[in-house]
Amino acid sequence: MPATILDGRALAQRIQAEIRAAASECLAGRGFAPGLGVVLVGDDPASAMYVRMKRRACERVGIQSKASVLPGSAAQADVEAAVRAFTQDPAIHGILVQLPLPEHIDEEAVLQEISLEKDVDGIHPINLGRLGMRGRQPSFTPATPTGVMALIREAGLPIEGMRAAVIGRSNIVGLPAALMLTNANATVTLCHSRTRDLPAVARAADIVVAAVGRPEMVKGDWLKPGAIVIDVGSNSVPDPASKKGYRYVGDVEFASAQAVAGWITEVPGGVGPMTITMLLSNTMEAARRSAASTAARPQ
Ligand code: NDP
Repeated sequence: MPATILDGRALAQRIQAEIRAAASECLAGRGFAPGLGVVLVGDDPASAMYVRMKRRACERVGIQSKASVLPGSAAQADVEAAVRAFTQDPAIHGILVQLPLPEHIDEEAVLQEISLEKDVDGIHPINLGRLGMRGRQPSFTPATPTGVMALIREAGLPIEGMRAAVIGRSNIVGLPAALMLTNANATVTLCHSRTRDLPAVARAADIVVAAVGRPEMVKGDWLKPGAIVIDVGSNSVPDPASKKGYRYVGDVEFASAQAVAGWITEVPGGVGPMTITMLLSNTMEAARRSAASTAARPQ
């Protein structure tokens, strides 16, 4: 039997409906809309597209978004000042710095400017550190791996005790996904470009998360029958049959993987819609916490 599809679009729609209701309640009951501040530096077309998609998604659920767009030649101090302005703005509850930043910018120093309670992308070094420490709680977890975890949970199986292979160790996807699976009591192998015999490592896993950026690298015969397969990859490949001349594929070869796996995500329609939704959800939660702490403060 082919694997059951873990439908990121449907799950994202369900969660976005809840966020929309919460945002409208926030506006009606407390008199303010949740606010997201986005900092974009440079004119990388993919980054600009992600920022546009995030703005539209905010509009759909009733979150106000403000963008601070700086030229690629912006100085370190200007980028830090843009983040600081959002940190100090009471109408902004969540801050997103669109990565990657231009090479001359010190990313760590910029991310340190995000206040922990507005770090809705979970990318502040302290939040990422807390994610990896026993007994500590980050303010927020990064959007993409949070979406990955939500999709894994949709399979309805206990994650505890499962073996997981996460392929890719980036700061925004692979590493936090491995930490989140560890926190859910899976036994995790974090794989990367120097991992020996990757197919054998993947084949031993009950959960495979592919976050590599290599089109269709993970094949069906790399998988354990019945495994949960989450494909984070989003790679454009030439496709003369499509109007645009290209199409998106994941890091997993879908047809061969679906024949072996128990559950699988599609590209597009899997992790992508969940990433944006988790960012919206974290922003709504940041607004809720801000309202609660204002209400608790003595007048
Ligand atoms: P990075 O390029 O930052 O990291 C890629 C990782 O893959 C690295 O850890 C690298 O290893 C590893 N890798 C590269 N080649 C191999 C190989 N042959 N075998 C094993 N591991 C390998 O990528 P990101 O984490 O930013 O993104 C990964 C993919 O996910 C991309 O396709 C990206 O577009 C997509 N993505 C999708 C999102 C969504 O919302 N759907 C959000 C974010 C990303 P090493 O560390 O050794 O170099």
